[in-house]
Amino acid sequence: MTLRADPVEIANLLQHAADGGRITPEQALLLYTDAPLHALGEAADAVRKRRFAGESVNVATYIIDRNINYTNVCLTACKFCAFYRAPGHREGWTHSDEEILRRCAEAVELGATQIMLQGGHSPELGIEFYERIFAAIKRDHPSLTLHSLGASEVVHIGKVSRLEHAEVITRLHAAGLDSFAGAGAEILVKRPRTVIAPLKESGETWLSVMETAHNLGVQSTATFMMGTGETNAERVEHLSMVRDVQDRTGGFRSFIPWTYQPENNHLKGRTQATSLEYLRMIALARLFFDNITHLQGSWLTTGKDIGQLTLHFGADDLGSVMLEENVVSSAGARHRSNRTELIELIRSAGRIPAQRDTLYRHLVVHTDPADDPVDDRVHSHFASTALTLTPAGASLS
Ligand code: SF4
Repeated sequence: MTLRADPVEIANLLQHAADGGRITPEQALLLYTDAPLHALGEAADAVRKRRFAGESVNVATYIIDRNINYTNVCLTACKFCAFYRAPGHREGWTHSDEEILRRCAEAVELGATQIMLQGGHSPELGIEFYERIFAAIKRDHPSLTLHSLGASEVVHIGKVSRLEHAEVITRLHAAGLDSFAGAGAEILVKRPRTVIAPLKESGETWLSVMETAHNLGVQSTATFMMGTGETNAERVEHLSMVRDVQDRTGGFRSFIPWTYQPENNHLKGRTQATSLEYLRMIALARLFFDNITHLQGSWLTTGKDIGQLTLHFGADDLGSVMLEENVVSSAGARHRSNRTELIELIRSAGRIPAQRDTLYRHLVVHTDPADDPVDDRVHSHFASTALTLTPAGASLS
């Protein structure tokens, strides 16, 4: 017999969270599994409104960036990944410095403010490769923010170049890296992480690298890939692990949950999280993370309609109009958007669209529809690129 949670207890808990009270992981699990959907969304939206009280309360942001996948060669062989090729594979590739710089120049031309360099863990690429390419990008395009790599890359570079994590971070930062993406988190909890990414660093190591980075002045985001077979309790445990570090460092700028894409990889048959589970997770994250300011809804993996709904479930940001993305698209994400559409999507959700930078500062607030940009060149063309490549993991960040 399934015991039903007490509706009064749920309502009191939602009120407590909506009023800004901290909820425990046990309480979070109860809300995630048993709170009525609309009440959960309403409580999360109340928290969002309080956090952004004032001029920003009705604003929802987006960013224009380019995700450059510099290599698909990877030793780590995550089972959910359709993108990588093992070292020595005939389909493996690594872009030249010139090609990476060319893509950066294109991105600047199209109005991008941020570059996300994301790629496989190639045994050929040590710290010098990253130092060289970061310095070259900053030399040619000082206006670009390098929000790139992540804790997994720090661990990998440390192994290839025989360096401590702190030294890798310090050298990358000195070469031009501004902040780390939240990639590689997937799920930090040991059991499901070992199932989907047995060769990747542990969740504890991922968090420890991020904590080191934050303490060295390099901020980051935190992500969560849901839907690979984890339990609801494990979903909440992932959130709890991130919140504990954030209590000590304050270095996570945002939390970005997204759904696993099931095509072209070795997990295949596992169930993707449903749209309702995703919306519940967005709302729960807003209630649970009383210490992380921004919450990003994903339209890339869930579709624009669900992306739009996230704005009513606590999200304040819809991420990027990506000028290039090969990793998630390789695993089946097919949703495509341009800036005009994204602005319209935000506006028709009842919010004021604003282009932001990496630090979430508003660059352009689209107050008047008559002034909306009509430049269709600023679009995400991942749907038309590299669909023969593979999978997920290194991307939304
Ligand atoms: S997700 Fe990243 S680390 Fe894992 S196999 Fe793919 S490219 Fe390698």
